[in-house]
Amino acid sequence: MRVVIIGAGIVGASAAYHLTKENNEVILIDAANEGQATAAGAGIICPWSSLERGENWYNIANEAAHFYPKFIEELKEQGEENVSYKKVGSLITASDEGKLQTHLQLLQERRTNAPLMGDVEQLSPEEARELFPVLDEQLHALYIPGAARVDGRLLTKTLLKLAKSNGVQYIEGVASLTVEGHQVTGVKVKDKIYEADRILMTAGAWAKDLLTPLDLSLHIKPQRGQIVHLHLPKIKTSDWPVISPVGSGHYIVSFDDSRVVIGATRETNSGFDYRMTAGGVAEVLHEGLTVAPGLADGTVAEIRIGFRPMGEDLLPLIGPIEQIENLYIANGLGPSGLTIGPFVGKLISEMIQEKSMALDLAPYNPKRAIF
Ligand SMILES: Cc1cc2nc3c(=O)[nH]c(=O)nc-3n(C[C@H](O)[C@H](O)[C@H](O)COP(=O)(O)OP(=O)(O)OC[C@H]3O[C@@H](n4cnc5c(N)ncnc54)[C@H](O)[C@@H]3O)c2cc1C
Repeated sequence: MRVVIIGAGIVGASAAYHLTKENNEVILIDAANEGQATAAGAGIICPWSSLERGENWYNIANEAAHFYPKFIEELKEQGEENVSYKKVGSLITASDEGKLQTHLQLLQERRTNAPLMGDVEQLSPEEARELFPVLDEQLHALYIPGAARVDGRLLTKTLLKLAKSNGVQYIEGVASLTVEGHQVTGVKVKDKIYEADRILMTAGAWAKDLLTPLDLSLHIKPQRGQIVHLHLPKIKTSDWPVISPVGSGHYIVSFDDSRVVIGATRETNSGFDYRMTAGGVAEVLHEGLTVAPGLADGTVAEIRIGFRPMGEDLLPLIGPIEQIENLYIANGLGPSGLTIGPFVGKLISEMIQEKSMALDLAPYNPKRAIF
């Protein structure tokens, strides 16, 4: 089968990898837009402590978190030894121990269907600081040993490399759809049309533009995230756990190269305004240094900006576009696409090939967001 994929973030790269592995002919097109979410994402994989996103979100996110270790093993078998995925654990922190109880109860309930999570422990401030030495001295914590982190850029690059070695044709350019009646016949880049049996849109926050010429409106909006990377010279940060303060959308995640990342703004009406703002950077640094004052001496190495693809109900959109034959979408992964994206790429590739799927995708049918 010949499949054209539009968008090479984590979702498109994973779909391309899975489709080429099954010997499909794949053309992958990417516009290299500034603000690709995958390139800016923090990379926390810990769906279990999320309180507010509902059962359907939790089910796919939990499955996706459990898919990761197997997927990483599969990549290792192909010679990709380090794609930065690491189980470093997560500390849910609060100054008042009592505030951790709702989370503890929820985590214990979820433990039965989430073996990867591991046994959650309550830690004193001293014990928490043994795991994360720059943490505020007053903070109590819950420790979730199964939480992980991944560098979205590196994982995506690896998937693209493997897809290329499986024969994917990669094209840089802005794609648009060519349609006859109710059937999509191909994809246009500059003056060239690429015909296909199936077309998959994994264009993140920009996907709406692809459907506008078809008189279809897709309810996906960009949400800007500004995220700060610190360098802590000579400090080994590779095993530091993720920090998630109770009641805050902010977090800290650490990587191998003495790098600590503080995230992030959630700017819902930002449009595609690719800028770092004084207010955004101040907010992120303030939140980060409140929880981890020991980071104050870190070097500000980089500030990344990304546009999260946000649907109205925070649930992914995965499946066919009802109004147009042979056209599929995988989108709406919002703030959790580095967790869910690799798994969604696999699911949509199975759907396109009409194979049986690892999860019932009915709750994620995109028709609820396309009018
Ligand atoms: C600051 C920040 C922190 C985050 N932290 C986390 C986290 O800790 N954990 C987590 O799980 N998730 C996190 N996320 C969310 C995650 O990064 C996203 O949900 C995910 O990367 C979305 O992937 P995507 O492939 O759908 O979109 P994208 O990565 O945005 O990729 C879409 C691609 O489509 C291309 N494109 C668009 N239009 C066209 C066109 N017409 N033609 C050709 N190409 C086109 C673009 O160039 C782009 O490369 C974070 C996001 C941000 C911004």
